[in-house]
Amino acid sequence: MFENVQAAPADKILGLMMQFREDPRDNKLDLGVGVYKDSHGDTPVLAAVKSAELRLFDSQKTKAYVGVQGDKEFCAEMASLVLGDSVSMDRARICQAPGGTGALSILSMLIGRTAPDATVWLSDPTWPNHMPLLKNARLKTQQYPYYDTKNGKLLFDGMMEALSAAKPGDVLLVHGCCHNPTGADLDLAQWAAIADLCLEKGLLPFVDFAYLGFGDGLEEDAAGLRLLASKVPEMLIAASCSKNFGVYRERVGAAMIIAAAPAQAEATFTQLMSVTRAVYSMPPDHGAAIVRMVLTDPHLKSEWITELNDMRNRMLKLRSGFAEALRRESNSSRFDFIADQRGMFSRLGIAPEEIDRIRADHGIYIVGDSRINIAGLPDNRLDEVARAIVSSIE
Ligand code: PMP
Repeated sequence: MFENVQAAPADKILGLMMQFREDPRDNKLDLGVGVYKDSHGDTPVLAAVKSAELRLFDSQKTKAYVGVQGDKEFCAEMASLVLGDSVSMDRARICQAPGGTGALSILSMLIGRTAPDATVWLSDPTWPNHMPLLKNARLKTQQYPYYDTKNGKLLFDGMMEALSAAKPGDVLLVHGCCHNPTGADLDLAQWAAIADLCLEKGLLPFVDFAYLGFGDGLEEDAAGLRLLASKVPEMLIAASCSKNFGVYRERVGAAMIIAAAPAQAEATFTQLMSVTRAVYSMPPDHGAAIVRMVLTDPHLKSEWITELNDMRNRMLKLRSGFAEALRRESNSSRFDFIADQRGMFSRLGIAPEEIDRIRADHGIYIVGDSRINIAGLPDNRLDEVARAIVSSIE
């Protein structure tokens, strides 16, 4: 069976991480990897998470299966964190999923089951795992223009124009906030226009919400998604807790279905549960139990919000500091967009050979599409990194 199997194409980001590990230079810098880093370059366990973990260790009485939906209290907490009061909860159904990727995958399989002819429209560019997971669910895909990398600008008109070709029943995949890889987000007027478009054309919005709290704040980051939820009859949401709770390896996420009426939500949810039952049966418990404990304990929740605010404020400060350093070094406003964008990523908009030069000459590792992890920038080396970049592109 395996004698004729060809190797799958190597994952570019993982390849870059390997190359970084083997680089002997002391001052090497990894701006490729997609995890938050603090000012020491570490990705520590949050204090609120550690406390919840200790409590869980003491209080947990069984490791029996958690059930196909997962932890119901976790689901309810996630629904209120994400949706607020934008939608009546009797029209919503939520299940725990193994990370944002797990939520995206099972919802994509649900689309494959209930609307196999739908085309899923996704942004160009988008998170590199969107396309493969949609293909795994055997869905048709098309991309809409989203971002002009060279000029650091959102292409909203181009996006809307492309979507005018979408057919009723098609699915519109959008990033809830902190767009990966561009950092360019929709404003509220644009979210409203998307809601109108979905209503007008009968499109199903599917929101990938992986960075809640990493942009402008918990409420601010959810505002666009909530506006959409308040207007459309149906919607899918894949939320991840990997970044905002720093529980990457625990695989914590939630899949949400909103339907026009409670009975439709329930019927669709039974289909989703039947998808998950066939794929992984039950979700992992540990990480979701921690998130549930943090969200239901007022003390732990306020500790978590402080830690989340610290992570966000660090990224905002790095954004403005790095944009300033690049302005000084390049004597131009070419990179000013970095300060206006949000979340963990931005694209520098430089050429692949320039990226190679920056790596070879300065040990700074950047992904081939010029995406950098803002949180990977050391606070005390902004000028040095800016100088290395500018000297390699001149
Ligand atoms: N969506 C986007 C846009 C992401 O950037 C990520 C993480 N890199 C995910 C989903 C999935 O996150 P996870 O599966 O680690 O929760």
